[in-house]
Amino acid sequence: MNHPNWNADRLAYLDPSGIRKVFDLAKNLKNPVNLSIGQPDFQVPDIVRQKAVDSIQNHANGYTVTQGIDAARDALKIREGIQHLQDRELILTSGTSGGLVLALLATINPGDEVILFDPWFALYPNMIRLAGGTPVTVDTYPDFDLPLDRIGKAITAKTKAILLNNSGNPSGRVYPKGQVEALANLAKENGVLLISDEIYSSFTYDTEFVSPVCFNPDTLVVSGLGKSYGFTGWRVGFAHGPRDIIQQMIKLQQFIYVCTPTPAQHAIPAALECDISPLIKNYQAKRDYLSDRLQSAFPHKKPEGAFYLFLPVPKGWTGSQFVAEAIRRELLIIPGNVFGEKDTHFRVSYAASQATLEKGADILLELAQLAPG
Ligand code: PMP
Repeated sequence: MNHPNWNADRLAYLDPSGIRKVFDLAKNLKNPVNLSIGQPDFQVPDIVRQKAVDSIQNHANGYTVTQGIDAARDALKIREGIQHLQDRELILTSGTSGGLVLALLATINPGDEVILFDPWFALYPNMIRLAGGTPVTVDTYPDFDLPLDRIGKAITAKTKAILLNNSGNPSGRVYPKGQVEALANLAKENGVLLISDEIYSSFTYDTEFVSPVCFNPDTLVVSGLGKSYGFTGWRVGFAHGPRDIIQQMIKLQQFIYVCTPTPAQHAIPAALECDISPLIKNYQAKRDYLSDRLQSAFPHKKPEGAFYLFLPVPKGWTGSQFVAEAIRRELLIIPGNVFGEKDTHFRVSYAASQATLEKGADILLELAQLAPG
């Protein structure tokens, strides 16, 4: 068909996800060792599945109010410790991604700068640009700590927001309380909105997770339950923040997502009553196994959270070359340049069975012996 180019100019702002590229490369592999997955390998608790089924069977299948049902919102407010705060509001969103989209569309004007930390979750720079903003990257290699002096220097008159991800994808870092507090104060002192993506907050192993909202009540928290309860496909996210911003996000949601899927909303209170600590302990053991086995070949600081290791490639390799070689050996991992400007690392997800972790570690250790190229 001969038709004009109907694609919108704004599509030029989007880099297709490099994770999809790995999946494309891998699609002809029969039985790959898959350490590329960004979702947990455990099953949704029975009671939670039952509540979603009950919602369907009891004919609760229509739209809900835009902000989500009260039973779910109230339960989340308690989990987040914000039930007493009059000037804070909470909205259920369509996954954490949906919350991030609403947050950025509600706050970013064309020309606004948004500071983000490299390595970042790939949605961030893409969505910032789509909202008309300019991503301003602050490098956090090699330890992925928050470089507060450089963050301070990156703030200009155009800075509208700072986007934080704690626990971090891909770094697995959980920022110490002192760094979170200092960042929260820096945002406050400069009148900059701090957006905190806390989707991995349940996945912390050695350090206590601390939200910047404890130090800066104007923080906009965006989070979700998909990773914590194993239902990423149900699209359960939420955001809480200053009432006026959340009101604007509710307004946008009316026209974009309408509401979080209704059966999933009805399962939220039951999910929040489940004790997921055995699952988290199990992930801690997976982290220890993989981190310890790979430490000497790929020296790294043990990450405190999420379910990823972000490891330096051996000398002489680029991240992409190393990953291409891994895929040739049927091991799926993600090159570091998907998450930022450098091509020096690769991401391994340990959200996988012990047998898969063992096979993956064997292949990685074998690769570490190879000459590059
Ligand atoms: N933020 C981060 C840091 C993530 O890693 C992900 C998922 N990979 C998301 C947001 C999106 O999560 P959801 O499935 O809830 O939209």
